[in-house]
Parts: sequence; C-alpha cells; structure tokens
Amino acid sequence: MSILKVARIAHPVLRSSAKPLPKEAFRDRLFQKLIDDMRETMYEYEGVGLAAPQVHEGLRLAVIELPAKDERSEAEVPFMVLVNPVVTPLGDEQEDGWEGCLSIPDLRGMVPRLKRLKLDALDRDGKPFSLEAVDFFARVIQHECDHLDGNVYVDLMKDMRTLTFIKEFEDHVHRDEE
Ligand SMILES: [Zn+2]
Repeated sequence: MSILKVARIAHPVLRSSAKPLPKEAFRDRLFQKLIDDMRETMYEYEGVGLAAPQVHEGLRLAVIELPAKDERSEAEVPFMVLVNPVVTPLGDEQEDGWEGCLSIPDLRGMVPRLKRLKLDALDRDGKPFSLEAVDFFARVIQHECDHLDGNVYVDLMKDMRTLTFIKEFEDHVHRDEE
C-alpha cells in the first residue's frame, strides 16, 4: 500500500466533475489498489473521509471511516467504500457544523448541511447498498460527495468569518464551545 499525494485547492482535478465507475472497474486490480491506498492516505492524514479527486483521480469514488474515538460522531462507522454515490435529502432540516478538508490544509469552517439523508452507492465489489445517515455521518457523506462534483466546503460557508486555522480553533473556538 502507498500513501498518495493529496491535491490542494486550485488543482483543476478538485474542480472537475468526476466520472462514474463502469462495471468492469471492480475486477481491476489497480482500482482495488487505489481503494487500499486511499484508505492508507486517509489514516496517514487523520481524515474521516477521502474522495478520489483528492488523490488526483477523477472517479466517483470515496472512502469514509469514523473512528469510535472521534468526538464529533455519535457512533463508529467502520471503513466503507462509496462508488457512484447518490445522496437523497430526507427532509429539509439543515444543521451548522465545523468542517475541514485535507485539500485545504490547516483550516476549519462552519458549514450548513442537510441533517438527514439517504445514500445509495456501490461497495468495492460493485454490490449496491443503501443507508440512512444523520448528523456528522451525514455531513461527511455530503462533504465527500461534493468533491465528486468539483465542490469544496468553503463554497457552502454562509459566514466566512468562521474560517479559522486549526490551532486557533483549538485555542479559542473549540474551548469556548465546551
Ligand atoms: Zn474534503
């Protein structure tokens, strides 16, 4: 397995619409290796999700894992692969929450997101699955799926004054919220 180079904003791959994976892709050894490498890369940079365009691959593919120790998530989400994901809103309730992105290093910002959604996708073997997600898990799904359409979280921020460096976030913002 390899740790991949992460694209940062202004690289065109992050602003392009990613291509759907065809059926043949799932048997491709290189496609399976890409998933393993994305997993390794996500762990290396301590992310909870990573989308293929972030590692310079314009494919509708993302990985997510919410560790039990992550205080933002209510429940652990084991490593999962999302291929050709489709998000359907469940209701119109929105919720503000903090987000960061490996492609916009060292920053955090407050982003409104759907509170509740349905996800339809294929797993790494091409098998369809469907689930409902709420709160932080729903947020991460929306964040990763946005990458597949060339969007990043700062595009959705309503108040740019909430943009903060992680260190200052820990020193000032996070502390005040506790
Ligand atoms: Zn991101």
